[in-house]
Amino acid sequence: MRLKGLIVLVIFTVFFMACKEDNSAENYKHEIAEKEQEEKILEFGFDLKKFEFKRDTVRKGDTFGIILERNNIGYPEIFHIAEKAKDTFDIATRLQVGKPYALLFPKANVKDSIRKPTTFIYQQNLEDYVVIDFKDSIQAYTRTKPITYVEKIATGVIENNISETLENKGLSQVLAYKMADDIYAWTIDFRRLQPGDRFKVIYTDKYINDTIYAGVHNVKAAYFEHNGDSLYAFQFVTDSIKGIKDYFNEDAKNLRRAFLKMPVKFGRLSSRYNLKRRIAYYGYKVRPHKGTDFAAPVGTPIMATANGTVIESTRRGGNGKYVKIRHNATYSTQYLHMSRQAVKKGQYVKQGDIIGYVGMTGNTGGPHVCYRFWKNGRQVDPFREKLPEAEPISDSLKTRYLEHIKPIKERLDNIFFLETDSQKNENTITQDNITDIQ
Ligand SMILES: [Zn+2]
Repeated sequence: MRLKGLIVLVIFTVFFMACKEDNSAENYKHEIAEKEQEEKILEFGFDLKKFEFKRDTVRKGDTFGIILERNNIGYPEIFHIAEKAKDTFDIATRLQVGKPYALLFPKANVKDSIRKPTTFIYQQNLEDYVVIDFKDSIQAYTRTKPITYVEKIATGVIENNISETLENKGLSQVLAYKMADDIYAWTIDFRRLQPGDRFKVIYTDKYINDTIYAGVHNVKAAYFEHNGDSLYAFQFVTDSIKGIKDYFNEDAKNLRRAFLKMPVKFGRLSSRYNLKRRIAYYGYKVRPHKGTDFAAPVGTPIMATANGTVIESTRRGGNGKYVKIRHNATYSTQYLHMSRQAVKKGQYVKQGDIIGYVGMTGNTGGPHVCYRFWKNGRQVDPFREKLPEAEPISDSLKTRYLEHIKPIKERLDNIFFLETDSQKNENTITQDNITDIQ
C-alpha cells in the first residue's frame, strides 16, 4: 500500500511538474486546491481543522444522555437523538466504562457563551467506532478504521531464553508465544533452548489507520535451529471454508501432533510415567506409576489432548472423579482426580476442549491431574511415544503447498543472521518489507 502510494505520488509529481511549465493561473489554482486537500487532517472522517475535539473516556455512571447533558444539550433533544440512533447503536445500554469517546464542537469565530457539540463518537475498540451526528438531521453509523498489515522479518540468537532475545531486539513477545505455543509446541521444548539456537521469522504486524501499532498479527513462516536440527514452518490454509490454517514443514508434514503435550495449560510435570517407581508411602515397594502427573491449582481447566468420544465420566476408588476418552482404535486417554467433570459419557470432544477441572478426589497427596495414555489397551509413556501427526495434508493439496512455500523458503534461506544477533542491547533489526498483504 505504502509502496503503491509512493509510486502514485511520484507519477503525480512528475505529471504536475510537466503541467507547471505552462504556468497558467488555472494550474496554480489546482495546486492550491491540492495543497488544501493535503492539509486536511481527518479523524473518524471529520476534518480536525473544522472541529474542536473534546476527548474523554466513559466514566462510571455515564450514559449517552448524561454526557450530552454535561455538554449543554437538554433532555427532549437527547431523547430525540437516542431514539433516532437506536437502530445503529443502543447507546443507553452499551457505553462501557473506560472506553474513549469524543465530542465534536464546530469551530466558532465568535465566542459563544453556551457551546454545544454536534457529534458524538464512541470508540468501541481500536478499530470500530460509532458516530452519532446531530448537527442538522440525526445520523448514526458505525465505521471501521482502515487496517493494514506490514510484513516484517526478524532474526535472533538465543543466549538464555527467547523472551530475553526478543526483548533485547525490541521485538514483541507475541512472537515467542506464537513460536512456542502454536508453531513449535510439538517439536521444540522452549524451556530447554540451548545457547546458540537461532531463528528467523517472517511475520505481519497490524496497523490501524497506518499509524497505530496493533501488535503482531500472524507468523507466515519460521525457521528454528535447535540442537543442530533445522526446523522449518510454513503456514498454509488447508480449508478455506472453515478457515483452518496449520503449520507444515518443508516436506509438507504437519508440525502439530494429534495430541497436546499436556492436558493443562500451565502445570508443572510433577511425576513422570515410571514402572520402577518406589515411594515411601508404600514402604519403598515398587509401585509403578503408569500416569504422568501435572500439578496445578484446584479448579484449573483440564483439556482433552485430542479429538475423541468420552467413554467414561465417573467416580471410582483411587482414581476419584475421572474422564476417559477414546480417540481411535489405537489411542485412549484418561484424566484422574478431578474436582468435577465437564463432559458426559458419549459426548464428542475436540482437542483443547475443557473436560473437567483439577481436584484432589481419589488417592492423591495434592491437587494434580494424573494423565494416562493408552495405546492398544496398554498404558504407555506419552513422552516416549512418537505421536501421530495431526491431519496430514491431502495429496491434492500437497503439490499446491510445495509450490506455495517455494518462494517463501527461498526468502527465509536468504535472510542472514547478523553478527549483532548475538550481541546484547542491539536495537531491532527488523527489516521492513513494505508489502501490503491485505
Ligand atoms: Zn499419577
